[in-house]
Amino acid sequence: MAFWIFKIAEQELYPDEPGAKYVYDNTHSVRVKQGDVFLYLDKTERYAFTAIGSVKRVTERKSTTSESVRTRSVRVVYTAQLGDVVWFNEPLSISPTTKQGRRNRAQLGITDVNLLGWSQSIPSLSESMFAAIVELVELRGFMPIANEEDFSVPDTWSKSKARPAMKKFTAAVINRSNGVCIVCGTGLEGVVDAAHLSPYATDVKNRANPANGVCLCKYCHRALDLRLIAINPAGELLVAPDMVDPVARFHFDRLTSDERRRLLKGVDPAFLTLTVEWYKEYMSNK
Ligand SMILES: [Zn+2]
Repeated sequence: MAFWIFKIAEQELYPDEPGAKYVYDNTHSVRVKQGDVFLYLDKTERYAFTAIGSVKRVTERKSTTSESVRTRSVRVVYTAQLGDVVWFNEPLSISPTTKQGRRNRAQLGITDVNLLGWSQSIPSLSESMFAAIVELVELRGFMPIANEEDFSVPDTWSKSKARPAMKKFTAAVINRSNGVCIVCGTGLEGVVDAAHLSPYATDVKNRANPANGVCLCKYCHRALDLRLIAINPAGELLVAPDMVDPVARFHFDRLTSDERRRLLKGVDPAFLTLTVEWYKEYMSNK
């Protein structure tokens, strides 16, 4: 998978359809492939990143006579069909002539724009630069929030489109319990996750549903996924009766059910009940 900057600019030769198609030709040394991801760099917005998306497929055709007449070396014209395009709420400027643009450049470590390769039409980016730009878009609050009612994240979505939905899920779940693991109570930043109750892999409809998530530390998250513990809607923690490991017991005896129930505000009890059912099933088959 490669990472690209696609420029949006006024041009007559191959009119683009922003959000749908990106057209280029054989004079570019690079080849865009299915599954690649891109950022739009909009020249009409004075050099600002305006969207993220993925390449669904690439088709090619011979250049027309008029195209070849205008630019002699053009023989093949490629069209990248775009998908999963997410437009930012606001453009992220990297213009050298504005304060915002200079600030964003400094933050991204762009000292020389030629290092980005954007003097060519469709330069590829390093994965780390791509990630840094996306992080900055999120940090500035420009990444749009996913649909309020629909929490599904279909498999057909690329990471670029799933990302805003899952970021929102993570933030909502972790903030709801003030970043505290609802099983053991640790609040160590970076150690806690937004965990799914009904699994991400199988429950497409509730992948981004905050009511399907709880804040768990890595230790408790693993224990829940392994069905060694379960949490019922009353906040009680069910622990495998034969669990004697003292460190495990230390984790699981820290909070009272009342304390846990308060941290579970906003969690759909139906999803908690699911963990209990799976735990019982696992224990009965042990
Ligand atoms: Zn924990």
